Amino acid sequence: MMQRAKWASARIVFLMMAFAGTASGGVLAYLLGPVYSWYFFNDTNFLKHHRLILPLAISHLKLISEWVRDPDYRKMFAIPLTAPPMRGPDMSRVRTKASWPDSASACNGCAQCCIKRSCSFLDPETNQCTCYGSFFWRYFNCGRYPENVKQIEYYNCPKWEVIG
Ligand code: SF4
Ligand code: SF4
Repeated sequence: MMQRAKWASARIVFLMMAFAGTASGGVLAYLLGPVYSWYFFNDTNFLKHHRLILPLAISHLKLISEWVRDPDYRKMFAIPLTAPPMRGPDMSRVRTKASWPDSASACNGCAQCCIKRSCSFLDPETNQCTCYGSFFWRYFNCGRYPENVKQIEYYNCPKWEVIG
């Protein structure tokens, strides 16, 4: 119970910070740079990441707009505030497809879901996620993807399928 309250509080504080940072056009993120840097990159070296502030504010605005406009999208990606952070999908509910060449966790160079989301955290040169394992990644959709068949269909993901 206490643990769930802790996860919920952590999410609420983060969401308030994210909305405030976006609403200020990124100005707040400059003022509280190390905090935002820790949330998104697991380090406090804000200067290393500051060029992403504007693209992030823009992509968060797009995300909020999609969330408000599209009830299916909200339903597909909703996470209870009290849900635990995750570093991978629930393997009792999903598995890699038999056709997938590598049953391990790698995506073999695919970045379809990140590209569809126009995610600013995707390094265009390496196709790798630059915020992998961070608070944002663990507490929201990326660390626990996929959670349902709708998400897999939405991204046209070649790797995962729902069990049963
Ligand atoms: S769409 Fe599927 S296979 Fe491609 S990067 Fe996303 S999770 Fe990996
Ligand atoms: S895995 Fe990383 S790059 Fe892909 S959508 Fe999530 S945060 Fe963005």
